[in-house]
Amino acid sequence: MTYDPSNIFAKILRGEIPSHRVYEDDAVVVFMDVMPQGPGHTLVVPKAPSRNLLDADPAALGPLFTVVQKVAMAVKKAFGADGVTILQFNEPASGQTVYHLHVHVIPRFEGIALKPHTGQMEKPEVLAENAGKIRAVLNG
Ligand code: AMP
Repeated sequence: MTYDPSNIFAKILRGEIPSHRVYEDDAVVVFMDVMPQGPGHTLVVPKAPSRNLLDADPAALGPLFTVVQKVAMAVKKAFGADGVTILQFNEPASGQTVYHLHVHVIPRFEGIALKPHTGQMEKPEVLAENAGKIRAVLNG
């Protein structure tokens, strides 16, 4: 399978469709997941095109996971979470639904289960507020 540049995250990276952005640098864009599995569910997306981890340039992974760590620490603080789950899916059999490499960063709270993957759409105002909370920690 080859990379398809018409996937929805490629469109977000090109600014063709909107997202609730929390961070951007030369290598990575971070925005809110529109169907969060919990409050503060964030996606860390490298700008370099690949379907997933399996065809990614190894050189892209260091910068990607540096930002994953930065965002994990920020969401834990922003939401007063007890922990953080990191998820990353590769190909349909694994549950991947968008074919541009991305890492899920999800704040976790003792005793509270994750909501279903690609479940319910969150209200835009809630996503905007949550993005603001994370930006405030990253910029603080
Ligand atoms: P995966 O199944 O790992 O490919 O995850 C794709 C994720 O992207 C899911 O959690 C979706 O809720 C999320 N998603 C789909 N479309 C958008 C979008 N336009 N903006 C932000 N997140 C999205």
